[in-house]
Amino acid sequence: MSDKKTLHVLGLSGGKDSAALAMYMRDNYPELDIQYYFTDTGKELPEVIDFVNRLEGYLGKEIIDPYEEVFSSNRKKKDFDYHLAKHKNYLPSPQARWCTIQMKLVPFEMWIEKKRKEEGYDEVISYVGIRADEPARTGFLTNSNNEEYLKIRMPFREDGLNKKDIFDILQGADLLADTEEVINYRKLFIDPQSNMPVEPSEKEIINHFETEILNISNSTYKSANLTVELYRKIVEAMDVGKPGYYGWRSRSGCTFCFYQQKIEWVRLKQIYPAAFDEAKGYEKTAEEKRPDGTFYWLGKDTPLSTLEDKERIEQIEANHEKRMARFIKKAKRRQNQLQINFVNIETEVMDEAYDEVEGGGACVTCYK
Ligand code: SF4
Repeated sequence: MSDKKTLHVLGLSGGKDSAALAMYMRDNYPELDIQYYFTDTGKELPEVIDFVNRLEGYLGKEIIDPYEEVFSSNRKKKDFDYHLAKHKNYLPSPQARWCTIQMKLVPFEMWIEKKRKEEGYDEVISYVGIRADEPARTGFLTNSNNEEYLKIRMPFREDGLNKKDIFDILQGADLLADTEEVINYRKLFIDPQSNMPVEPSEKEIINHFETEILNISNSTYKSANLTVELYRKIVEAMDVGKPGYYGWRSRSGCTFCFYQQKIEWVRLKQIYPAAFDEAKGYEKTAEEKRPDGTFYWLGKDTPLSTLEDKERIEQIEANHEKRMARFIKKAKRRQNQLQINFVNIETEVMDEAYDEVEGGGACVTCYK
């Protein structure tokens, strides 16, 4: 037996795979004293923060923020705005992903170094939620010399767990079961007289959401410009144990993450208009302050302000619908390969439908 002192860590992105991995490790490897962490960029969706808080209760262990572990709490956190100013308003992009390095990897490495120095750890094992049904990769950006003591383990891959298993874990934990939306939705599936399970008709489901949407009291969505269809997708995601944002967005991470698809920007504008305006503001400042031009998050020469055009939005929505319909038609022919059913599938296959690898090129730190 090794006499090395080992620090076990598991990073949560706010996404489903890392959350499911934390649940899986708690239940299957209770002998490991794992330190869970979540690096809050300050630009997360409220749903992400809520989900991480719920997860903390489920795990029965504190989820720490590496940054706060390294610096004293009374020092202002170096968030996106701080780093943007340091980068002279040079917006992060897939080619210049300083955001992940500065906001996530550097605090993580500093925290690990502090733990090693102060507590004498010889090695660090980091558990990552790469599944058995996806390509082997660490998915980390490398900017350090920590290879000699940092090891990556992929328990889902090692134990043969795929996407469906991850769904089962999330559904089993059912972290959002006590939300008003989920409680009310599930009433549809129980006969009030007999208390027996029933299958509501499509019309009854739509009626339910049409009524509910008029009475949204949850502060997360009360100012959102939701359609019945979108609200339904959000609640259906919550009903299967995923954060509600999986009803309209395929990834965790910053509100303005440049890996999101155009349709996700459209929905961000619809659901979190203030976050969208903030992103638009960053682009505008970059335009004004960078004489050499700026990167636009939607793509070349396409500022977010182009989404103020109603026709443009309709075009993006129509293109997305067409693409998804095409993809789902093809996917149904090879359903066994997808290993999922077709309820609430859209955000699960978003990257695949857009011919991108899962995560769209982002590292696991951000989207897993
Ligand atoms: S989520 Fe996107 S914007 Fe945020 S740190 Fe990661 S790559 Fe950068």
